Amino acid sequence: MISRLCMIGVGLIGGSLCRALKAAGAVGSIVGCGRDPMQLERAVELGVIDSFETDIAKAVSDADVIVVAVPVGAMPAVFAAIKGHLKPGAVLTDVGSAKGSVVLAAREVFGGDESYFVPGHPIAGTEKNGVEASFAELFNEQRVILTPLEVTDPAATQVIHKMWQAAGAEVISLSVEHHDEVLAATSHLPHVIAYALVDTLARMHERREMFQFAAGGFRDFTRIASSDPQMWHDICLANKDALLDMIRRFSMDLADLAKAIEDEDSATIKATFNRAKQARDQYC
Ligand code: NAP
Repeated sequence: MISRLCMIGVGLIGGSLCRALKAAGAVGSIVGCGRDPMQLERAVELGVIDSFETDIAKAVSDADVIVVAVPVGAMPAVFAAIKGHLKPGAVLTDVGSAKGSVVLAAREVFGGDESYFVPGHPIAGTEKNGVEASFAELFNEQRVILTPLEVTDPAATQVIHKMWQAAGAEVISLSVEHHDEVLAATSHLPHVIAYALVDTLARMHERREMFQFAAGGFRDFTRIASSDPQMWHDICLANKDALLDMIRRFSMDLADLAKAIEDEDSATIKATFNRAKQARDQYC
């Protein structure tokens, strides 16, 4: 049970975590924090948070757990505004989709002594954003990755582990580097490909006709291109190195497939599609 939780960024992820913790009876009260008072008022109306503050220092001052759920590019400024205002014993965590840049920002702002900081990332989401899109079941049976640092107090990690379990999630731990490599491959690259594909079609001359003929497969494949551009801009830059490695690797494989199609090399085409189908059927 968390007596008082402060949610900085009451959007899809932050709002859903608030809803899940309230539904589980795992939190006493929640103060929300963000830049737009109208959105925060709406979050109170929806019962997602109990009260709100637009001043980060005030919002965090009496909280036991502080969750930062803003776009990763906004985290350094949020950490700077938090610094010096946490009460003793408070635990700080985040939900950012890339971890290396967030950990670096925390180290720079807090000075390498952040034993109370537990970096985290729920592997759950939708292409929608904002508090209206939030729902309590988002994390049910989904994974949350924690990437505790060498300096992180195990008791702080335990608090955040229990918080996510109460929200319905399965919690696992990875190193920061491993997290960023894995997520570059499984989440960040697919988003880049979906955005690039839809943009290519959108810029083609006959685009109206093109999208009229887009059927289920195209919609399934490109759903994530409706995700928030600012959020994904931030993630691409935050996980630049690992993402560029994956883009290069994928570009080479795509070029090989293009060559096989050009050469009518049926063996290579079928081998590629068979490997992909087997992997998709087995793991997804
Ligand atoms: P969202 O629905 O757009 O919510 C973001 C929240 O952050 C909003 O409430 C917004 O409120 C606040 N915010 C935006 N810019 C800010 C800034 N510059 N300074 C302070 N607050 C700011 O986005 P989300 O999908 O919940 O994503 C939040 C975090 O979760 C991101 O770090 C993302 O990487 C991570 N994440 C997302 C997903 C996903 O699938 N969406 C999955 C896992 C993790 P105001 O505009 O009122 O400030």
